[in-house]
Amino acid sequence: MVYDNSNIFAKILRGEIPCQLVDEDDYTLSFEDINPQAQVHVLVIPKNPYVDWTDFTKRASKEEIIKFIKAISRVAKKKGVTKTGYRVISNIGLDGNQEVPHLHMHIIGGRPLGPLLERKE
Ligand code: AMP
Repeated sequence: MVYDNSNIFAKILRGEIPCQLVDEDDYTLSFEDINPQAQVHVLVIPKNPYVDWTDFTKRASKEEIIKFIKAISRVAKKKGVTKTGYRVISNIGLDGNQEVPHLHMHIIGGRPLGPLLERKE
């Protein structure tokens, strides 16, 4: 699992391409998804380079992990979906259909989201 420094979120973190900032602290950056799937669709990413959740939980410090989880709640509050509800998704690897190889949580809400997945055999 080698981290690819040329991925789009690494470029956002280096300030090479812009993002619509929602929240930031010393370990995390949260910004609007460029192709929102609902009224609220924000991505929360760690500032340090982790490919996915497996990599993050293996290498990140306890403080980093706590800050990352708290950032998710803070973003939900900022976007006004804490009371109405929302979904937190992280796509991981091939079967997870992960497109960007830098760990990110999708925070999605603002409307009833329906079942988690369409059932397919
Ligand atoms: P995933 O399939 O879980 O890797 O999700 C990648 C997400 O990144 C998708 O929802 C894209 O719409 C989003 N995305 C790709 N490029 C950008 C960008 N430059 N700014 C914000 N979101 C992006």
